[in-house]
Amino acid sequence: MLKRDKLYINGHWAAPSGNEVFEVINPATEEIIGTVPAGGHGDADAAVRAARNAFDAWSATTPAERAEWLEKIYAQMQSRADEMTELIIDELGMPFKLTKMIQVGLPLATMESYAKLVRTFPFEERVGNSLVVKEAAGVVAAITPWNYPLHQIIAKVAPALAAGCTVVLKPSEVTPLNAFLLADAIDAAGLPAGVLNLVSGSGSLVGERLASHPEVDLISFTGSTRAGKRVAELASAGIKRVALELGGKSPSLILDDADLAEAVKGTVKACYLNSGQTCNAWTRMLVPEKRYEEAAKIAVETAARFTPGDPRNEKTRLGPLVSKRQHERVLEYIRIGVKEGAELLLGGVDVPAGLERGYYVSPTVFGKVKPDMTIAREEIFGPVLSIQTYRSEEEGVALANDTPYGLAAGVWSGDEERALAVARRLRAGQVDINGAEYNNDAPFGGYRQSGYGREMGRYGLEEFLEIKAIQQPQG
Ligand code: NAD
Repeated sequence: MLKRDKLYINGHWAAPSGNEVFEVINPATEEIIGTVPAGGHGDADAAVRAARNAFDAWSATTPAERAEWLEKIYAQMQSRADEMTELIIDELGMPFKLTKMIQVGLPLATMESYAKLVRTFPFEERVGNSLVVKEAAGVVAAITPWNYPLHQIIAKVAPALAAGCTVVLKPSEVTPLNAFLLADAIDAAGLPAGVLNLVSGSGSLVGERLASHPEVDLISFTGSTRAGKRVAELASAGIKRVALELGGKSPSLILDDADLAEAVKGTVKACYLNSGQTCNAWTRMLVPEKRYEEAAKIAVETAARFTPGDPRNEKTRLGPLVSKRQHERVLEYIRIGVKEGAELLLGGVDVPAGLERGYYVSPTVFGKVKPDMTIAREEIFGPVLSIQTYRSEEEGVALANDTPYGLAAGVWSGDEERALAVARRLRAGQVDINGAEYNNDAPFGGYRQSGYGREMGRYGLEEFLEIKAIQQPQG
């Protein structure tokens, strides 16, 4: 049992104001693996105060000094990488190799890349007789979800610190332990007091307090569209800056000249990553009507190989869902899919063989999904693929864009020029052609109800900067 009973505020591990805790549950075993404090308003206020007090000195440091701090944090994170991997497997249930590479490797790479970027980023430029200065936006509240917990934290904390902002971090109450290990690393790095503060707690108490706190200047939120709307609403009273990274219902548009087997396999893999608990997962596979049978067959064959199992087994590709709540939610969507008349080609609501314990769901594929069905419109966040068909490229593009979201998309074609032309027409923040590899420095974020603002790389740094124009007399 990992009992974390203190919050990290003003450079110290401090006792929380109340006695309540959140239990952290291993989704593969359903056992309690730890507890963290359920912070309250007083804790959020103390953390904001600390961040406010630290702001003047921290924002006055030079970019080179901040780069050195990020390097120190990176080194401390690196020395805890194995421990972090073990912890995230236990909190989240993602299979070992993927956890190591994505949940731990990616945040490390992000921290390292911001340490480099901040050294070369043009914080000042001349526009005529103006000196345009980009400076820290202020005190940042970072509110994060559970699905890529450390990645989502570092995607905010690294650029915020690099920009010269101070931070209050409120991680997800479902997977908070990794944030405590990160705070250990930051403490060991010796970051000045108050620059980074950690308050665990619920969204309704700590999250809402931070979103409406008069001393918070900017809220960087990743999570559901529902909570994002609430955060934006609360922040609007104080005209705070808000960046929202929300949900998605992303299409994989397979054009008629694509390598069908490669495209379908690539889509299934992307859909099932992290058991489908991925905001930019391609959950809608759009195929030409005349190739539907062929595509459905390949999808089922591919999906069937994602045997759910223990995330600690090296061979496992599909771990459990993160929580009982998430498990019930996904099963309910599968029931709705069947009820609304989609063809269940694989999987369903039955408990996968031999997995009576743990929040496992079988890899599920629905065929002949109509655009107005619930499973085509709403984010499921489980290993559930919906196959839709279209007749012309025009109809395919329209179908891809027929969603309230706009986070990501895939395009597959034998002709890269054609794929690029189609990619330009998709209303989404990230579009991958023929399964192109992830780029950690590319801007990440959504159109429409997937949110606004961008994370990662230079664009992610700019989110945390204010722009000031200083006019100088022209001699
Ligand atoms: P969630 O919205 O329930 O919680 C996310 C965070 O917001 C948590 O820290 C939670 O405590 C907090 N929160 C909840 N209600 C709040 C409120 N009223 N005020 C302030 N904070 C509040 O989401 P989740 O279940 O943790 O994560 C899953 C969702 O996140 C999915 O919808 C997924 O698509 C989305 N997501 C988006 C991205 C992206 O980059 N676009 C990345 C990962 C996850």
